[in-house]
Amino acid sequence: MSKHHEVVIIGSGPAGYSAGIYAARNGNKPLIITGMEFGGQITKSFDLENYPGFTEKIDGLYLTEQMRKQAEIFGAEILADTVINADLNNRPFTLKTENGEEITADAVIIATGASCKTLGLPNEKKLTGHGVSYCATCDGFFFRDKEVFVIGGGNTAVYEALHLSTVCSKVTVIHRRDHFTAENINQKHFFDTPNCEVIWNSTVEEIVETDGKVSALKVKNTKTGEVTEYPTEGVFIAIGNKPNTEIFANQIELDEAGYIKTKPNLCATNIDGIFGAGDVKNPHFKQVVIAAASGAQAAMEATKYLLSSK
Ligand SMILES: Cc1cc2nc3c(=O)[nH]c(=O)nc-3n(C[C@H](O)[C@H](O)[C@H](O)COP(=O)(O)OP(=O)(O)OC[C@H]3O[C@@H](n4cnc5c(N)ncnc54)[C@H](O)[C@@H]3O)c2cc1C
Repeated sequence: MSKHHEVVIIGSGPAGYSAGIYAARNGNKPLIITGMEFGGQITKSFDLENYPGFTEKIDGLYLTEQMRKQAEIFGAEILADTVINADLNNRPFTLKTENGEEITADAVIIATGASCKTLGLPNEKKLTGHGVSYCATCDGFFFRDKEVFVIGGGNTAVYEALHLSTVCSKVTVIHRRDHFTAENINQKHFFDTPNCEVIWNSTVEEIVETDGKVSALKVKNTKTGEVTEYPTEGVFIAIGNKPNTEIFANQIELDEAGYIKTKPNLCATNIDGIFGAGDVKNPHFKQVVIAAASGAQAAMEATKYLLSSK
């Protein structure tokens, strides 16, 4: 027996909770399906200082817990489960979860985020937030006037390096090839920036830890096999993101990288009643404030859609 909700929100990051607050206040009695990561990616950060309204650093988990409570106060229901299957071709839309629930919905907001690709090194996870970062905009400021490293060679890596060059004393990019794959204009900016350098044909062998923090990188030259240790307190991993859209593929329109395609300036997708919100539809600006705004917009669009389809 399936349960029906007017609006179902998939994901409990800033986009999902914000959508929940708006949809609940609009009287749409939303269900938020949390997924494995309660509160989303920002719960990995203890030092969030760019979300408007707070003058001190806050813990990402604290922020998303406040969002969850706010959504619940207005009547959003929370289900701790993961969607494993979605039928978006028939109405009402049907979602199946890992715990065997079948849920139908008139409108669905997909806010499943985009996971950072990792290097897969032994210390990497443990040192995230202690010198390992995946976001220059988020964490660059903590390395003010210090020498940092960026791993990668595409547009993201070059953007991250350029961003860091404005706050850090030196930025060295480590890239496994002998050329960048970033657009030429970005490469030109990079090579014109005096405090940016690159080490070609190299991979990180080890992130060295001292007292629970990053203290150096061991870097292997893939041509010669030589390993060199570079002292540093900060390494930014910029090898891309993977949008969590596998279960929706072949149903809604995705771009070549797997991000949800939405109509210009909207969260509406190619299927009426299905909306994308937050990082899962935004390959460029992955920030809490942007994801929260996007969730709010998706919920407002969903309410409008429900009214128009009655
Ligand atoms: C380490 C780190 C530090 C960061 N620091 C900052 C910062 O300082 N400032 C800032 O503004 N931004 C920061 N960011 C970026 C910020 O976290 C993201 O932009 C933001 O969390 C995106 O929100 P979202 O809701 O779109 O997606 P996410 O936060 O990624 O949430 C996705 C949600 O979808 C759920 N989900 C996925 N698949 C399913 C499924 N099949 N079924 C049900 N649920 C599912 C997950 O459980 C999760 O709850 C940081 C990111 C990281 C990784």
